[in-house]
Amino acid sequence: MKLPDKEGHFGLYGGKFVPEVLMPALSQLEAAYNDACADPSFWQEFQALCHNYAGRPTPLYHAHQLSAKLGGATILLKREDLAHTGAHKINNTLGQGLLALRMGKRRVVAETGAGQHGVAAAAACARLGLDCIVYMGEEDIRRQALNLLRMKLLGAEVRPVSSGSRTLKDAINEAIRDWVTNVGDTHYLLGSCVGPHPYPMIVRHFQSIIGEETREQMLERYQRLPDHIVACVGGGSNAIGIFHPFIGDPSVKLTGVEAAGRGLGSEQHAASLVAGRMGVLHGAKSYLLQDREGQVSPTHSIAPGLDYPGVGPEHSYLKDSGRASYVAVTDSQAVEAFELLSASEGIIPALEPAHAIYHVTRIAPDLPRDHIIVVNLSGRGDKDIHIVAEALGGKL
Ligand SMILES: *Cc1c(COP(=O)(O)O)cnc(C)c1O
Repeated sequence: MKLPDKEGHFGLYGGKFVPEVLMPALSQLEAAYNDACADPSFWQEFQALCHNYAGRPTPLYHAHQLSAKLGGATILLKREDLAHTGAHKINNTLGQGLLALRMGKRRVVAETGAGQHGVAAAAACARLGLDCIVYMGEEDIRRQALNLLRMKLLGAEVRPVSSGSRTLKDAINEAIRDWVTNVGDTHYLLGSCVGPHPYPMIVRHFQSIIGEETREQMLERYQRLPDHIVACVGGGSNAIGIFHPFIGDPSVKLTGVEAAGRGLGSEQHAASLVAGRMGVLHGAKSYLLQDREGQVSPTHSIAPGLDYPGVGPEHSYLKDSGRASYVAVTDSQAVEAFELLSASEGIIPALEPAHAIYHVTRIAPDLPRDHIIVVNLSGRGDKDIHIVAEALGGKL
């Protein structure tokens, strides 16, 4: 069966839990997407932007030193860190920007936590001639001054959000409020495979370029598929992007890595799939971190992009069905992997995929050399140097 179904369900998960005023906008977006799917010129334009502007295809790199150091499986890195703006997020923002143009909407609103999605949205909007407004929590603005300046240079208007914990969850609420008010001329450019249908389906499609390339690169170089794919999971878009083209290949094991923060027992983590339960957040049903009364729990991760209490509904479905498995890695383990990859390969990873790298260090040593593990290296770590320096307590 092809998922999601017509109402946007992935089994028990997904759907559209939104105010009535947004229903027409979601239907319009879905119609524009379906229309685009049937139009080869849309995908030619998307591919051309990905190629000429975002620098795709990204390499599938054999991490010789890391593989040798761990002494087991062969480890390959899908280098999304080399994509324009430093992460996989540009794939989605270019795709949705093109959809906005197709709908005749010239104003785009986006939310951002650490600023990575805001930067990718601002860049895509600049390139496509769209107005871009980014909602960002005041707490995040304080922590991510550099990304704030980047967004401004890229021509975006950044609106500080002072409600709630003044972080990502509150920025999403504000972006949705703006969208409700200006729905006629505004597209909401959602940054991960979360939210109401059709967002999880659309974001998956644009990010699947990662998995499609990986598949081609594997077949060309090794004449076979990888044994195992590992990716970090915040909202889940880089993971679903690399998983999706392999879901029908049962020989390829799929593992998502969530943030265990200061430990799963600490209540300071962001492991929605490993430690949460079903609930509704930001328009969809999915695994969610919540207290006994159903209040959304505060989260923590050293990786800004993983610090979110929910997760895309398709991952909830893949977990329950057993097609993918999900594990968690703590802050200090991620920092350890951050240092390891930097020193062994000369590649400074973002803290988000450092979680995935750490998981690989747990499993690779016991596997034979002809076992191929692909890690989605979702972004580069320049943005995280100050966080790591602090975590290492002056050791840098
Ligand atoms: C935003 C971000 C993530 C988390 O988002 P997903 O939707 O789970 O992919 C992961 N890695 C990097 C580098 C990011 O910027």
